[in-house]
Amino acid sequence: METLTQEDLTLCDTKKVLAMMDQIGTGGAELEKELMNARVEGKGKRPSIETVFHGWLLQLDGARFVGHCHPLHCNMILCSRRAEEFATQRLFPDEVLCCGSQSVLVPYADPGLPLAREIQAKVLNFLRRNYGSPPRLILLQNHGIIGVGATSMGVLATLAMAEKAARIFVGAASLGGPVFLPTHIAQRIGAKPNEAHRHRPTAVKTE
Ligand SMILES: [Zn+2]
Repeated sequence: METLTQEDLTLCDTKKVLAMMDQIGTGGAELEKELMNARVEGKGKRPSIETVFHGWLLQLDGARFVGHCHPLHCNMILCSRRAEEFATQRLFPDEVLCCGSQSVLVPYADPGLPLAREIQAKVLNFLRRNYGSPPRLILLQNHGIIGVGATSMGVLATLAMAEKAARIFVGAASLGGPVFLPTHIAQRIGAKPNEAHRHRPTAVKTE
């Protein structure tokens, strides 16, 4: 990503990308063809196989940026039996401010349409439980994490804080097990997010 240039980016037609979600059975070579057809004016490199979930998440209320990565400590937890605890509980206030009081946990699905549909199902479930308020952090079991937000810095803050929280979780697990914030306190902190704090890059330094 550090060496990414404008030529490595492909502009896609959202309508065409979203239409793929409903095309039951689309996969493999067919998906590749659809992705090539979704390029605006047919220009640019082949879009990523994960374009579909990016496109769908960008439809969420207030979502303008979606970031996806596979950080080491997050994946230690997401490849363990404790993924659900990491998704539903919080360890410290900054984690709540950057990642929300809960994350969406998505069971393993193959990349491409199976994963996009699984993410859609779990996020819709989350929206129903949270009065339409979208998640900031989505955890993919045996795969990685996704940040969703209004600004690129906000998404970066969410992803960096998720990895910091994961490092603390893994450390706490080696010291007898993490002690989580009481749920009502995490919810109270999450209900009043301090946007300025959340988007300040210095707030997410991990070292
Ligand atoms: Zn991935």
